[in-house]
Formats: sequence, structure tokens, C-alpha cells
Amino acid sequence: MSRIRGKDTSPERLVRSYLFARGLRFRKNDKRYPGHPDVVLPKYATVVFVNGCFWHLHEGCSKARIPKSNVEFWTAKLLRNRERDAAEIKELEAMGWHVITVWECELAAARRDETLENLYDRITQGGENSGKTESLPK
Ligand SMILES: [Zn+2]
Repeated sequence: MSRIRGKDTSPERLVRSYLFARGLRFRKNDKRYPGHPDVVLPKYATVVFVNGCFWHLHEGCSKARIPKSNVEFWTAKLLRNRERDAAEIKELEAMGWHVITVWECELAAARRDETLENLYDRITQGGENSGKTESLPK
């Protein structure tokens, strides 16, 4: 596995400590779900991916440029990553999860507060999941 997802990289830590400080409780890198979401919030039926712009080929982002050498290799690899991300999101949504992706560039100092506040609102706006049966492996 060459993906950076799975390591406790600092953008992920940033998101987790913010959500924790706001009182949310979650699981990390849960291997039972497609793509091993960085944050799993069963109470809100929501999972969060914190994606590096380069590895996940953030569309239209200046950090998601294909390297100038080995262009074919990188294009194929990064497109494959992006296709896999899309497939995993579909799978999670089919399982009843809301899927939120936070991009590394959205966590740059200038945009960080806004991004994190929006994230919190998006997670909690649907309300708690208490009445719904969790249709997931225990
Ligand atoms: Zn980006």
C-alpha cells in the first residue's frame, strides 16, 4: 500500500483534534469500511476522509499537478487513486453513510478555521443517528 491514508499525517491530526475539542467522538482509520475513513462518526452516520491533494488528485488544485518526469506512470497511478476514491465513496453511500472529504489545501492556515467550522456543521446538521439501526459490521 503506497497511499498516505492510514498514517497519522498532520492534516488528519488537525481535523481529529478539532472535532474532539468540539465534543465529537469517533473512530479512526476504521479498517472495516471501504477506504479506511480517517474519521468515523456512527452517531451521525458520517465518515470523513482527509485527503492529500497530490495523492488523491484534487481536481483544479495547484498541489495536484502531475510530476513532469515519468508522466505516464504518475498519470496512471494518480488517476487510479482518484477512481478508487470515487468507488469507495459510492460504496459507503450505498451503506448509508454521509461521506465528507476534506482536502489538505483547505487546511492551510488561511482557510483552516472556516474549513473546520464548516466540517463540524456538515457533520452535525443531519442530527444524531440514534433512532436508526447501524447497518454496519460490529
Ligand atoms: Zn487541494
